[in-house]
Amino acid sequence: MVQETKTPLINARLTRREAIACGVAGVAVVAGAGAWLRGLFSKGGDIGSVFRGDAPKGDLWELWKQRGWVKEGQHYMKLGRNVQCTICPNNCLLEPDDRSHCRNKINKDGTLYTLAYGNPCSMHIDPIEKKPLYHFYPGSRSFSLATAGCVLRCLNCQNWDISQRKPEETKDPRGPELRLRPPLPAGLRPEDMARLSLFPDDLAAVAKATGCLSISYTYTEPIAYYEYTYDSCKAARAAGVKNVLVTGASIEERPLRDLAQHVDGAHVDLKGFDDEIYRKLNSGKLQTILNTITTLKKMGIWVEIINLIVPTYTDDVAVIRRMCDWLAKHAGPDMPLHFSRFHPQHKLTHLPPTPVEILLQAQAAARAAGLRYVYVGNIAGLRDSGTTFCPGCRQPVIERDVFAVTANRLVAGKCPACQTKIAGVWS
Ligand code: SF4
Repeated sequence: MVQETKTPLINARLTRREAIACGVAGVAVVAGAGAWLRGLFSKGGDIGSVFRGDAPKGDLWELWKQRGWVKEGQHYMKLGRNVQCTICPNNCLLEPDDRSHCRNKINKDGTLYTLAYGNPCSMHIDPIEKKPLYHFYPGSRSFSLATAGCVLRCLNCQNWDISQRKPEETKDPRGPELRLRPPLPAGLRPEDMARLSLFPDDLAAVAKATGCLSISYTYTEPIAYYEYTYDSCKAARAAGVKNVLVTGASIEERPLRDLAQHVDGAHVDLKGFDDEIYRKLNSGKLQTILNTITTLKKMGIWVEIINLIVPTYTDDVAVIRRMCDWLAKHAGPDMPLHFSRFHPQHKLTHLPPTPVEILLQAQAAARAAGLRYVYVGNIAGLRDSGTTFCPGCRQPVIERDVFAVTANRLVAGKCPACQTKIAGVWS
């Protein structure tokens, strides 16, 4: 299972239960007007559904603005009094006072705003191996954060308590402002998280002050808090801090290209290779995710893929084989692939963990497809499941124990035994 790294400074992960205990106000879903839009744009399943009339109003809206937690959207169209977001394939069409599918965008008087700006609901300092990125500055620390909301609806989401929440369910703009920036406070209590602000320039400074080489936009979905991600990436790049997206990759081409020019590494969650199952399990569209992978590769971003194998959904080895063939052909044999073991959670608690045998079959299929770096994660005691082997001489060049690098024998990015270059970003 995923282990959390806790530090004296940053250990404040606010769960829904804690948020309620802190008195964070939720906003009731209000059935609003716009039935004709619902009919017109309903795409089946849970893809692209929006929350009618659910934008914050009155004092809550005013306080949210005063805190600086509101920013105009970056990619959208004005359609009279309505707006349409063009960041992800949900393409939410919002009437005034509607809330988006990802829960953090609203239409106020014909303008699209994000409510997830400078207001993370979760922060940690993690080893980069936890993302997981195994070929990107191994052993370094990454300042990791998220806001509420997500563009997907994965039945097996491990962070559903923040990904399937509105910003107002995780943050509280009442009370004294708490702005995180150097000099850093000695510690933060979980309840501080609800009122804490962390704006893009401050984020880069905090990452540096905490000894982090990179910032990871993670846990929920950086595409859902796009404007915050974008401004933070720009500020971090200017400050010499690397940027890492940990993403489900459900994003349209243009916003992707705009964002990716400021990104250094990406961990892409390719959740399967069957479009119908993708829609059912994740409310996503396979082709969009494949497009994102090829675009990131073409733009020179370091990319690693994770594939969580969910029993009865994505455990068909023939489909996994097709996925591996596609990756080898379109992303190249050097792109690392991490298979991950499913553990029962969220809406799939009735399913068992992924059998080890299936994970090993998937690993064998990936190697047979020509992929050179294949790992198995989220499982204890499986020998060499996180070891990087030289594709030239098969010697272990990087060894790991869960998220810790226990040996790194690379010399200038090469195998010390046979001098084969190991793909990755090493220094
Ligand atoms: S990013 Fe959010 S608001 Fe924009 S289209 Fe996607 S789900 Fe809708």
